[in-house]
Amino acid sequence: MAARGVRALQPYIPGKPIADLEREYGVKDTIKLASNENPLGPPQPSLEAIRAVLPDLALYPDGNGFDLKHSLANRLQVSPGQITLGNGSNDVLSIIAETFLSPGEEAAYSEYAFAIYSLAVQATGATGRMAPANRVDLPHPLGHSLKNLRAQVGDQTRLVFIANPNNPTGTWLSATELHQFIVSLPPTVIVVVDEAYYEYMPAVDRPDTLSWLHDLPNLIVCRTFSKIYGLAGLRIGYAVSHPAVAELLNRVRQPFNVNTLAQVAALAALNAKDHVLKSQEMNQRGLLRLRTGLTSLGWSVPPSAGNFVLADTGGRAERWYEALLRRGIIVRPMSGYGLPHHLRITVGLPQQIDRLLLVLRELRAHDGPDPEPVQQ
Ligand code: PMP
Repeated sequence: MAARGVRALQPYIPGKPIADLEREYGVKDTIKLASNENPLGPPQPSLEAIRAVLPDLALYPDGNGFDLKHSLANRLQVSPGQITLGNGSNDVLSIIAETFLSPGEEAAYSEYAFAIYSLAVQATGATGRMAPANRVDLPHPLGHSLKNLRAQVGDQTRLVFIANPNNPTGTWLSATELHQFIVSLPPTVIVVVDEAYYEYMPAVDRPDTLSWLHDLPNLIVCRTFSKIYGLAGLRIGYAVSHPAVAELLNRVRQPFNVNTLAQVAALAALNAKDHVLKSQEMNQRGLLRLRTGLTSLGWSVPPSAGNFVLADTGGRAERWYEALLRRGIIVRPMSGYGLPHHLRITVGLPQQIDRLLLVLRELRAHDGPDPEPVQQ
């Protein structure tokens, strides 16, 4: 009875919640390095802003997000009419798919791109076209190949999704190659540049995509408060686009898609510059430590511009995943992405990284390169 696009949909598998692991395995003091959350937590000013609005919770949120849109617009040097707020940037991605795709039309994305693109496209009944990713022996292994992506664009293409940096690969694109790619497309194709991890990229590598909006009305840039701003539990993200595109997205958006707590917390987070700076610094140090530690196990761990790494364990990663779960550490197996040898691991606090590396070294010493399967 379900709609055609929904019949073949496979649900998104999120990182295992801490409460599930503790209930199922009887472990305590669990650490979760599975969903690219900010281990420093939410910014203090966001918590204060939330407390201040609790008495207003009987009222619907501001459906237009006036205050937040104005602050964001000011910060990003765009106009409020260019911003569309979403219940997480995931919501924005779905709204974009619904707005621009009909059955029979196509959207293109890369192999190993963020899994939600293909789900959002399929749900509309449109066809997803997947471009082969970079080979593993090239720079940015498994990352987007813009040449291959360009080759997927045809007469029926309405949308192209690009994650920069990409999750789960951590790979990124230079400003020049990304700009050239967008310019090479017919202006009737909308390009979504998903910058969920933008603030984690070293500043020199960040393309100034928002400044391109003046000349590229077919560009949509998506960002989120879930990652560096530490507000994943509240669900708030946004798109910046040409105002005419924003006007279309706002027709599809549910009138109260972003709740009051999320709006005030996001607004306060914009001014929590210390929190962002501290998160960036800790992430850079953590990435180095994690890559060095995992590489010393014999794993292959390419550079990442996000707050996570994609590690090739060289064996059955599911076994490492299970063995870590039994020791109270949640990472993300990648079989769902067609990468059964890989684990995606979020950069945690320094002491969490130490614990992970210690446990992995113990497992390696005890079990060798492929930990024993779990005896249920
Ligand atoms: N884009 C990318 C590349 C992501 O990794 C994620 C979250 N994992 C999202 C978008 C969605 O994040 P949110 O809905 O929490 O904003």
